[in-house]
Amino acid sequence: MVISEVKNEFDLALENAQLSLRRGQAEILQLNVGKLCNLTCVHCHVNAGPKREEIMTGETIDQILEWFENTDIPTLDMTGGTPEMIPDFKRLVTTVRNFDQPRRVMDRLNATIINEPGYEWVPEFLAENEVEIIASMPCYAPDNVNEQRGDGVFDRSIEAFQKLNELGYGRDPKLTLNFVYNPNGGFLPPAQAELEADYKREMKAHFGIDFHSLFCIANMPISRFASYLKRNGELQSYMDLLRQNFNPSTVDGLMCRDTINVSWDGDVFDCDFNQMMKMPLRYPQTGGESMKVWDVELDSFSRQPIRTGSHCFGCTAGSGSSCGGSLS
Ligand code: SF4
Ligand code: SF4
Repeated sequence: MVISEVKNEFDLALENAQLSLRRGQAEILQLNVGKLCNLTCVHCHVNAGPKREEIMTGETIDQILEWFENTDIPTLDMTGGTPEMIPDFKRLVTTVRNFDQPRRVMDRLNATIINEPGYEWVPEFLAENEVEIIASMPCYAPDNVNEQRGDGVFDRSIEAFQKLNELGYGRDPKLTLNFVYNPNGGFLPPAQAELEADYKREMKAHFGIDFHSLFCIANMPISRFASYLKRNGELQSYMDLLRQNFNPSTVDGLMCRDTINVSWDGDVFDCDFNQMMKMPLRYPQTGGESMKVWDVELDSFSRQPIRTGSHCFGCTAGSGSSCGGSLS
């Protein structure tokens, strides 16, 4: 059964560029383990925060682990919320690292969790398991970071990165520490290579901090950031900016092509943005309803269409944007 949808403006932009967006082989299992977080950042596409109760249960994790071990997907990417705040975080990581065929594990770290009481174990645990860290750091100076992420977040992040450096993160090739930059408003990120050079120079000079790479990610016009733009009367102009900067050369690298994204309750999506837009993958076996990841058969999954919408222009504007930064 083929489930068809009316073409949206993003599909039409692809068509005009004579491109189609098709899934390739699954390379990344991305688990959004929940919306619980100690921060409430302005740009957060998850609407995460300390009062959110949606988190992945141990039972859901068991079902995912059993399915995942029987696939050849090489990478687990954990996001949230703050992944370390779910009770089964350690078990999830150690099980995947100890599979007969161990997988690469990435953690989208909110560094401030490291200095919250009760989370002192985080740096050593991540290092022992050689978990790759991708940490948000929207600027190398305090004002922008505090404005976007909350008062005091800059200093707390600096302290956390210094601790991670002491353990070898950002210095030892086995302990990857990458930073994520996202703009502090309704504009596109600058060129990634130049900004990375600035970050490396400034972070080293002022705080003695080393890291491996900087990923530039555009803000998506959804959830909390869309509300912020709307409040400031900028939503329309930001959407226009994204549309006007549609870059066809980014389409090949879009993360929805090789990622299986999963919500805290096990449902499958094309990406974390579609998850937040409540656009589950429509799988023919379920009559077009959402499906659980443990029911996915990878062969047929790779032939499923990707669901798109206007927000997709956030991934294809300018140099493009993905979980691994710019695309061109
Ligand atoms: S952006 Fe990250 S750290 Fe900030 S509220 Fe959202 S999940 Fe938490
Ligand atoms: S928003 Fe999701 S589905 Fe759309 S282009 Fe980006 S990654 Fe792909």
